[in-house]
Amino acid sequence: MSNPSILILPGDGIGPEVMAEVRHVIDWFGENRDLTFDVSEDLVGGAAYDVHGVPLADATMERAQGADAVLLGAVGGPRYDELDFQLKPERGLLRLRKEMDLYANLRPAQCFDALAEFSSLKADVVGGLDIMIVRELTSGVYFGEPRGIVKEGNERVGINTQRYTESEIARVARSAFDLARKRTGKVCSMEKANVMESGVLWREVVSEVHAAEYSDVVLSHMYADAGAMQLTRWPKQFDVIVTDNLFGDLLSDLAAMLTGSLGMLPSASLGAPMDNGRPKALYEPVHGSAPDIAGQGKANPVACILSFAMALRYSFDKGDEATRLERAVEAVLADGLRTPDLMGPEGGSPVSTAEMGDAVVAKLSASL
Ligand code: NAD
Repeated sequence: MSNPSILILPGDGIGPEVMAEVRHVIDWFGENRDLTFDVSEDLVGGAAYDVHGVPLADATMERAQGADAVLLGAVGGPRYDELDFQLKPERGLLRLRKEMDLYANLRPAQCFDALAEFSSLKADVVGGLDIMIVRELTSGVYFGEPRGIVKEGNERVGINTQRYTESEIARVARSAFDLARKRTGKVCSMEKANVMESGVLWREVVSEVHAAEYSDVVLSHMYADAGAMQLTRWPKQFDVIVTDNLFGDLLSDLAAMLTGSLGMLPSASLGAPMDNGRPKALYEPVHGSAPDIAGQGKANPVACILSFAMALRYSFDKGDEATRLERAVEAVLADGLRTPDLMGPEGGSPVSTAEMGDAVVAKLSASL
């Protein structure tokens, strides 16, 4: 059988720097855990525009469609700010998400004990936090028709439409239930069924999918506004939260920031299963290309490394190896290693991107 394939798209700014550390981690798994991937690399964002005149070449799109997992660094930068909308680096990323039909966006909020002090909440509220927000990514109010700004009488009216079909709700609900089975088996679904018909349908369909296919998972429902309050009051009550595009946008940012630096946050976007049973998948750090620190060895590679850990768990069914990698990161942080973004007000000596990556690899070796 051939090795599973990974397409790496480092992108712009700090993307290539953090991705170089991920490649060391991937190599380590090949050399030490009999987990060899066929890794190939291509261009996205400004880097693709510079060579091909578009932020994602058709050939790259085709390779992404055929890969078992795509790992992306970051796109964008001031050099490209004046380009036409369709040529901007971000359009490359949006094209990947759209054409791969990645409807489930997974944003973990995980707080390593060593970084609990970085949260705006008390350390005992966030220490050890490990929750997952599943946001519907391809429908809802950001896409619904009619939309626009129209003239009604003497004034303008702004219109957006929240629209969800049963099948769109059911498929993202399945993603959440499948994830819960790989975690602690709890899903909380959030909507506004008290004031929105789309919320009523959301609640009904999630409940139907649960009853028919996932009765082993514990399901609860919460209004999204109450959910926001509960996330700041006692986030550890949750495991998997599933919600629509708009509420998910807000709630996942809120939950992520409970845990501190942008340089720590991974994400995954999953679509329908392919012929080999693996979901279409794109893994990427939440942060952007950070032009202010690009090329200086200051970027924190952890978000990108943890995105690869998500790939191990969700694309390659290697939950044990994903945990090994997450523990290696945890151990490095517990030893006090910090890239500049993780330095507290008291200061200290930060390590470089490469030193952080090397330290993670050393902890992986120590785990054997
Ligand atoms: P950003 O995430 O790039 O940076 C915000 C701040 O966080 C900066 O001060 C940066 O130095 C810091 N930061 C981000 N990642 C870090 C890391 N790994 N280690 C240490 N510090 C880190 O957001 P921005 O400045 O608003 O955007 C910069 C560019 O990135 C823009 O062109 C934007 O469009 C693009 N962007 C791309 C993505 C993506 O590729 N998914 C996401 C957001 C922004």
